[in-house]
Amino acid sequence: MALLKDISELDGVKLGQDLHGFAAELYPICRSITGDGIRQTLAMIQSRIPLEITEIPTGTQVFDWNVPKEWNIRDAFIKSPAGERVVDFQKHNLHVVNYSAPVHATMPLSELKPHLFTIPEHPDWVPYRTSYYKEDWGFCLSHNQLMALEDSEYEVCIDSELGEGHLTYGECYLPGRSTDEVLFSCHVCHPSLANDNLSGLSVATFLAGLLSRRDLRYSYRFLFIPGTIGPIAWLARNREAANHVRHGLVLTCIGDSSGFHYKKSRRGNAEIDCAAAHVLTQLTESPEILEFTPYGYEERQFCSPGFNLPVGCLMRSVWGTFPQYHTSADNLDFIQPQQLTGALRVCAGIVDVLEENLTYRNLNPYCEPQLGRRGLYSPAGSGDLDAEINARLWVLNLSDGGHSLLDITERSGVAFSLISEAAALLLAAGLLSPVTEDEEENHSGTVAREIATQCPVAASSGIDR
Ligand code: ZN
Repeated sequence: MALLKDISELDGVKLGQDLHGFAAELYPICRSITGDGIRQTLAMIQSRIPLEITEIPTGTQVFDWNVPKEWNIRDAFIKSPAGERVVDFQKHNLHVVNYSAPVHATMPLSELKPHLFTIPEHPDWVPYRTSYYKEDWGFCLSHNQLMALEDSEYEVCIDSELGEGHLTYGECYLPGRSTDEVLFSCHVCHPSLANDNLSGLSVATFLAGLLSRRDLRYSYRFLFIPGTIGPIAWLARNREAANHVRHGLVLTCIGDSSGFHYKKSRRGNAEIDCAAAHVLTQLTESPEILEFTPYGYEERQFCSPGFNLPVGCLMRSVWGTFPQYHTSADNLDFIQPQQLTGALRVCAGIVDVLEENLTYRNLNPYCEPQLGRRGLYSPAGSGDLDAEINARLWVLNLSDGGHSLLDITERSGVAFSLISEAAALLLAAGLLSPVTEDEEENHSGTVAREIATQCPVAASSGIDR
């Protein structure tokens, strides 16, 4: 568990502060699905990791969709007759319905009201609203602000532009020994909202930074991409690259104090599903495994039937289930440094499992090899050593070319780290040989069937959201 071990050796307090600090740098920017807010955000990520930026012109067809207009905003306000800005975009970018068309008019409160949005049950909070695919305009404000508005004429101004431009996304590709890829994806289209999804952006950026300095089995691709239209556009332009995705994870809402939730891929028993469930069980308190649903984040596109990629979604709180969701209360106080560090550790643990999850063949399959002669067996009763010997026996027994180390972990109930260490020792002792990818392909039918029955994820009682 090499990456997780490296992270454990870092100064945890400083790491948490750095993760939170990067989220805080990104927080003030007014992002949307297109426009300069995304460009500015990607430039800040690019100052930390290698990032290739793609711009796709407005109107470009991507599968059943068209790249929408580019949106940019300079200012917006509602001004009272006394000239006071009673709602001010400069104070909080959530005050404007994201993607609002420009407007400049004076109107009575009765005419303005249909364009105003509040949360009466949380009268101090400002909601987050968008109007992406229907041209409209509006303001979001606290319910208290609304209640304080007198019945009068108001000057309303949204100084925005909706026009020909581009959709922008960023991609960090880290080549490994294999062209098979692990995909991480985060949406980058929300304005000042911390858990959804600056938490994901910050953790993904740090994870990519750590991986960029390592020798890797897989190639890694990190997508920083606007929701829905972003992955649709990426998939439309990268059908070949999509074929290389062996495992994938969407990161969102991973900075709050809830326990973890992992939403399985559409396949339900993919290696990423087993790896994520195992790592969460090992590293965190009472994680919950959720069945796939065709709603949520980028996994909606990656797991569409034409692609059916093995991509799951890692969250702490599940979107839509916490009161702060899509409100001004999803701010920098709602995410904590130690929770971000915890999320980075889980991602690292998953990467370690994927990197180390090889399949071996026992070269001495007729009865047990004599481990004592090789210094791999000691007299019983020595605590940890018993656990190590147990792991060795499991690896030897199930390494028939059809069980990966993760399969052995699931079947034995022994931690993956112990199984992986045992395999390394047995390999060094000449008792195992790795199974090549081609051999694995030939076996894949059997393996898939066996995983379906063994992997506790497949049979778990995970709750549906
Ligand atoms: Zn959201």
